[in-house]
Amino acid sequence: MWRLNGKLKNSRIFSAALDLFSSALFPEVCYFCGSSVTGEGSVICADCRNSIRIVSEPFCDLCGLPLSTFDDFASTICGRCLTKPPPYDKARYGVYYEQSVRTGITRLKFHSSLFNVRPIGELLVQAFNTHYSSERFDSIIPVPVHRKRLISRGFNQAISVSKRLSESTGIFLDRTALVKSRDTAPQVGLPRSKRLVNLKNAFNISSPERISGKRILIIDDVSTTGATVSEAARAVRKVGAAYVAILVVALRSKNRPAESDF
Ligand SMILES: [Zn+2]
Ligand SMILES: [Zn+2]
Repeated sequence: MWRLNGKLKNSRIFSAALDLFSSALFPEVCYFCGSSVTGEGSVICADCRNSIRIVSEPFCDLCGLPLSTFDDFASTICGRCLTKPPPYDKARYGVYYEQSVRTGITRLKFHSSLFNVRPIGELLVQAFNTHYSSERFDSIIPVPVHRKRLISRGFNQAISVSKRLSESTGIFLDRTALVKSRDTAPQVGLPRSKRLVNLKNAFNISSPERISGKRILIIDDVSTTGATVSEAARAVRKVGAAYVAILVVALRSKNRPAESDF
């Protein structure tokens, strides 16, 4: 046990040292606009933070997507969820995928450096604090990418940002329980009707005992319709997760998806 504790302690010291190293290496400037953020405790300046559009209410209590004018505003559940309940208990989105957020996430996709992970990780932590701070989770599961894609890109950005959330909340980060078993075509560019077919049975569970009866939080960096996270949630639920929640850093479009997208 002491070895495990020692290991944990060492990894914390290592990550704190890395943070110190990164702030020494990179000046304390806003990740998006370059203005000084010294002493703000953030890598995003207040102006940029205020310009980022948060996905705020009114949104559906279940799927977290903004309610449209077609929805009955007296209800907190959207028409789509009422017709066909999603395969998870709750989903939430942090901010809209546009302007500086879009630039930041694209940069992260190509360079998963500590410097690039920090601002997007910060947005994820902020979204968690807004939507899930009062809930208890057994593990955080980042949406996996297929091995082939991992080899070509070298990393999975959902894991990179989930690490920040795990460090900040102390919730166990489980990177291997959920596996992308099939290399699927990128969801972007596919018509909505094809998105779910594309993902069918794309995820497998490697360690059901780590999921069964547990409260799971699934993390992804960007989502358009929630189709990928829904499919991941379906796989997790199949092996008996007690509670399945989803948190996505950025929502690609403010337009609501079609009814058939879950
Ligand atoms: Zn800024
Ligand atoms: Zn809904």
